[in-house]
Amino acid sequence: MTENKEVPARTTGEEGKKSLNFIESIIEEDLKNNKNNGVVLTRFPPEPNGYLHIGHAKSICLNFGLAQRYNGKTNLRFDDTNPEKEEVEYVDSIMEDVRWLGFQWEGEPRYASDYFQQLYDWAVNIIKNGYAYVDDQPAELISQQRGTPTQAGIESPYRNRSVEENLDLFIRMKNGEFKEGEKVLRAKIGMTSPNMHMRDPIMYRILKREHHRTGNNWCIYPMYDFAHGQSDYIEGITHSVCTLEFEVHRPLYEWYLENVYTEGDIKPRQIEFARLNLSYTIMSKRKLLELVQKNIVNGWDDPRMPTISGLRRRGFTSASIRKFADTIGVAKRDNVIDVAVLEHSLREDLNQTAARVMAVLNPLKIVITNYPEDKDEWVKIENNPEDETMGTREMPFSREIYIEQDDFMEDAPKKFFRLSPGNEVRLKAAYIIKCEEVIKNTDGNITELRCTYDPDSRSGSGTEASQRKVKGTLHWVSAKHAIDVEVRLYDRLFNDEAPDGHKEKDYKEFINPESLKILKNCKVEPSLKDAQAESKYQFQRLGYFCVDKKDSKPGNLVFNRTVPLKDSWGKMNK
Ligand code: ATP
Ligand code: MG
Repeated sequence: MTENKEVPARTTGEEGKKSLNFIESIIEEDLKNNKNNGVVLTRFPPEPNGYLHIGHAKSICLNFGLAQRYNGKTNLRFDDTNPEKEEVEYVDSIMEDVRWLGFQWEGEPRYASDYFQQLYDWAVNIIKNGYAYVDDQPAELISQQRGTPTQAGIESPYRNRSVEENLDLFIRMKNGEFKEGEKVLRAKIGMTSPNMHMRDPIMYRILKREHHRTGNNWCIYPMYDFAHGQSDYIEGITHSVCTLEFEVHRPLYEWYLENVYTEGDIKPRQIEFARLNLSYTIMSKRKLLELVQKNIVNGWDDPRMPTISGLRRRGFTSASIRKFADTIGVAKRDNVIDVAVLEHSLREDLNQTAARVMAVLNPLKIVITNYPEDKDEWVKIENNPEDETMGTREMPFSREIYIEQDDFMEDAPKKFFRLSPGNEVRLKAAYIIKCEEVIKNTDGNITELRCTYDPDSRSGSGTEASQRKVKGTLHWVSAKHAIDVEVRLYDRLFNDEAPDGHKEKDYKEFINPESLKILKNCKVEPSLKDAQAESKYQFQRLGYFCVDKKDSKPGNLVFNRTVPLKDSWGKMNK
């Protein structure tokens, strides 16, 4: 895990007992000074152009978490100023994901598009005050004229149009008299500013596209910078928390605010923190969309996707994601968090909450030759050794059982403590068995084992043999009682730590070909018969699994592997 060494995520607060991150320190200072009359209103402002991912989850937990901590509220605002890429499907998925994470926004969701009229009126005012002008140059030329960080920009020949002419042209832009790209409205700030974002940035562009909410009412659309801060201001946001790349936009955020601000109103303050980067993970919405569109994954909620809906389908709990967000804290400098930290947070949660059950993924049949053919027995077994209140259940035992193919070796090395010819193992919660004979088909593949059991050795029966120690304990299911299920073994989607960090190679070259293996002939204990969608289990000795919420049906259960019990990547790759 790459730790941020320069800026501690949390410092010790005044009372010494609770520690504050730097945003909490700012808010506490504001509260102490009664700034904003003690109000704390944050917002989460997604653009509805994709599904939310784990990076957004970090931002959601931060914004809603701050409000919860300071008795404030959080708005959900769709930043829908770009009609080209936005869709209602995304709006719906975003609301569902925020709620699933455990948060509820204040009132109705808001939309930047609801403020189009107000933004337009403000733009008109800014023109009237002489601080904005209509430029007839094409976008590429404007962009070339911006200069470089070390070289001043060039002023547009249209920069000194009269207020009257600018007003007339802007109104005609709004009325649809010009074609796309023919004109833009620019703020008149200065082409020599050392901050490139201040060099007469574009405020409005012409786009003759239908908007998912405002239809064809508008053919000019505000740029992100002009819409965002003003939307914060309209809503009375006190602390506008965003990621670091907007630090350089902050002077512009403040410039626009100054130009629309009325004394006495709440003035939002922009605060930047480092975005979440995770190893082995891509978080660019453009690339995630590409994976979906090229069918490299099966949709936005494919369990290998870092989207909230993908993580959910994979079996992540919302509590583990919230815990993760809290554990990593907020940093002021970019860093990369090891994805193992997220998986650790999940294992910790599931270890406490997931019921243990027995499942055999690659079954090998055993016939216990000295066990009566017509007998069934029910053995008692704990549901979760970490939590007594989860109780016990009964599992059937009979003459024919399945164990995992891996748990048997014909020519076993000395340290192999599972089953091998002539050796004994304990079947968890049941008897000690001994392998007497290996049955093979004509190809020489093992098809079945013949074993004997020690009738006095049943776990918990109190006999001397029940205490007898043998080296290995195996999970198993009774063959005639087991349910056939499909199991999907998911693994990390990329086999490189930084799949999009290679200059010469495309991130898609690092797709892990083993990221999904489908097993059709798995056997699970009968207590899982009515397992509900999304319920989570620990398959003993194998890992955590959940019932797939889309493809699993009663009588045709599908389980997703959420995570193995231990992190095997750490060892393999370091
Ligand atoms: P785009 O490139 O489309 O703007 P985006 O990831 O910034 O992508 P938004 O919908 O604008 O997407 O993001 C909504 C909010 O989530 C923003 O406040 C943004 O700063 C925050 N956010 C996005 N990605 C991360 C991340 N990796 N870590 C923390 N916060 C993030
Ligand atoms: Mg963004």
